[in-house]
Amino acid sequence: MSRVELTGVTKSYTAGTLAVDRVDLSIGSGEFVVLLGPSGCGKTTTLRMVAGLELPSGGKITIDGEDVTRKGPAERDVGFVFQFYALYPHFTCAENIAFPLECAGVERRERAERVARVALRLGILDLLPRRPRELSGGDQQRVALARAMVRKPAVYLMDEPLGTLDAERRAELCEFIREQQLSTGVTTLYVTHDQEEAMRLADRVVVMSAGKILQAAPPLEVYDQPANRFVAHFVGSPGMNFVEGELAGGRFRSGHYGEGFACAPGSLPSGGGGRLVLGIRPEFVKLGPASDSGHVRGRIVADEDLGSSRALHVDTPCGRLVARVAAESPGRRGDEVSLTLEARGIRWFDPGDGASLP
Ligand code: ATP
Repeated sequence: MSRVELTGVTKSYTAGTLAVDRVDLSIGSGEFVVLLGPSGCGKTTTLRMVAGLELPSGGKITIDGEDVTRKGPAERDVGFVFQFYALYPHFTCAENIAFPLECAGVERRERAERVARVALRLGILDLLPRRPRELSGGDQQRVALARAMVRKPAVYLMDEPLGTLDAERRAELCEFIREQQLSTGVTTLYVTHDQEEAMRLADRVVVMSAGKILQAAPPLEVYDQPANRFVAHFVGSPGMNFVEGELAGGRFRSGHYGEGFACAPGSLPSGGGGRLVLGIRPEFVKLGPASDSGHVRGRIVADEDLGSSRALHVDTPCGRLVARVAAESPGRRGDEVSLTLEARGIRWFDPGDGASLP
């Protein structure tokens, strides 16, 4: 098990722009860390620098205390799998999977056993004699995953390894990756833009935007205590609702909403009042008939099916709010409703920089 440290790691491809901007990240031995963020935020570049495929413009990377910043991939004990990681076309799948073991000098019988074990677990036993061109993209991806995970390197590095698979396969393989990582204890850095995947896999989620780390915390903490508005909106589907307004004397008043509403004492920020942004996740917005004495009234303008639940988009004098309700709940497009914001779900943010307020 290995510890990975990034200190002030920076990458600039073109003068004046930073793809990765002074990233400090310490990944504990055996930890599963997921880099999450929108396209172009610097996740892949960060991973490639840890892999040794990209040279940092500044900063330092160590694996188990050894400075590997300027070392190539072969000089660091990493196993990687990328979304479009090519298999060797002239090898069969079995030979592809066995290749890293062969390079490590593992003898033939053990190689065959280990290949069969990982192939069985991934449901690709029948693919072993075939060559990559005879497989679908999803199957090739599973073979690439098997090839990375048949070995126990110091660090696994994975960049969207489930990108080409359908939802059912993704869920299955998420489970496989997590089980395999837990049983081997190999330190893992994993890149995705899919928040559900991140939440399912990670010990710690690192949310990035514009080359910087915005928050690094366990999944539930990122969801429940987002460091700022960006994280609050990016994580969660639908994301957090925001209402801009003013807090005075325990009442929160939003621009177009007359007297505003009284906030429960437990939900007030410690810094007092003034201009603030109230944030609340859709599951804490409770819906009732218009006759209820809720916090604000509005009209349902959209009804989004989320499978086991629905997201109702409600236009109110405070702006549009989304409420997440059980699939069978009443409330349809066009209905007038009353909304209550549950005190335990209220978070506060700075209206300027968007930082979360305690
Ligand atoms: P995605 O999820 O789309 O892969 P990402 O978060 O992994 O995005 P990166 O691929 O790391 O982001 O890219 C970060 C920034 O660096 C982007 O602005 C991208 O255009 C730029 N970039 C990445 N690779 C290169 C390159 N080889 N040459 C020039 N610019 C690059």
